[in-house]
Amino acid sequence: MNNNKQTQIKNPAQPVRGNFGAPIIGPRNPEREEQNRDTMAPPSTDHGTVANLRWSFADSHNHMTAGGWGRQTTVRELPISKEVAGVNMRLKAGGVRELHWHQAAEWAFMLKGKARITAIDQDGRAFQDDVEEGDLWYFATGIPHSIQGLVSEGMDGCEFLLVFDDGNFSEEETFLLSDWLAHTPKEILAKNFGVPESAFASIPEKDLWIFQADVPGPLAADKIVGAGPMPASLSYKMMAQEPIRTKFGTVRVTDSSNFPASKTIAAALVEVEPGGMRELHWHPNVDEWQYFISGQARMTVFASGNAARTFDYQAGDVGVVPFAMGHYIENTGTETLRFLEIFRSDYYADVSLAQWLKYTPHELVRAHLGIDESVLENIPDTKPLVVGF
Ligand code: MN
Ligand code: MN
Repeated sequence: MNNNKQTQIKNPAQPVRGNFGAPIIGPRNPEREEQNRDTMAPPSTDHGTVANLRWSFADSHNHMTAGGWGRQTTVRELPISKEVAGVNMRLKAGGVRELHWHQAAEWAFMLKGKARITAIDQDGRAFQDDVEEGDLWYFATGIPHSIQGLVSEGMDGCEFLLVFDDGNFSEEETFLLSDWLAHTPKEILAKNFGVPESAFASIPEKDLWIFQADVPGPLAADKIVGAGPMPASLSYKMMAQEPIRTKFGTVRVTDSSNFPASKTIAAALVEVEPGGMRELHWHPNVDEWQYFISGQARMTVFASGNAARTFDYQAGDVGVVPFAMGHYIENTGTETLRFLEIFRSDYYADVSLAQWLKYTPHELVRAHLGIDESVLENIPDTKPLVVGF
């Protein structure tokens, strides 16, 4: 079986670059080596010690129930990421991520399918909405909420990415409605609601987390106003946002300036066409946490102090760039590369290497690098963002 696997990969990756390295003659895992070509045979510009900046959800433990599943990438999987954790969750149609709250704030991107979300705030103002592919939601710390899979165009439920503004977050340690009631004396429940204890005779003895329920009716029939409407919508149509377009891709930036509810998470959805690259840049405020939706990429992170390391990514992978470190993200495949850049911040910000050099006295730049004036003349007036050649 293993031999069979090996023969499926033509020209298997080898730790060889020019005169350096030698083919593997011991045990090997060709599929993983293929996915990590720039780790096994790094570019000669890589140097020094840089922590691991890649994790694949394929390597995350999966918590499965009758209603769906959830798997997470937290500081336990990717120790460098202390600011942000992520959860990849699937709900079947009718499947409910049960009513709960948590200490971290939750930002989400719908990957496929459709779901109904509900929440209330501290003033009893209620929110319900149906979200579909490309939509976001944001639940602030402590705000109780739920997610339920719906049916859409023959799709059984949904799959989405959850992002939390704390790398130490765990989806297994949230405050669940069923868990709380199971750990409260029944006479207290009776007193709290002014009914006999028997009313609580059949509450679950253990938490539900994700469970299967019936698919709900239309949103209009499910609507509850509560004590009034929320001051700002907790959902947002990111894909409906007009992107910044360049010859080699698009960028949609969503932060608290256009999605006011999202007070602690800023995001960019980036599309890079084959041959294109997210330009050399860094972020002046916080770490970057990435989720790769489709395509293939490589990223080199410049960590200062003579250190740089290159990683490869594909759909379902997570990347991290520690605060202020320089980087690029290159499309190394043959299809459109799509990924999310996530930041624990109320605003998005990046500093472009090209823009920095263009708007610094050129004589000074040339004194550093000895480059031809044509390099600086070729830089456009606006930030290049996604470039190509
Ligand atoms: Mn949650
Ligand atoms: Mn970046």
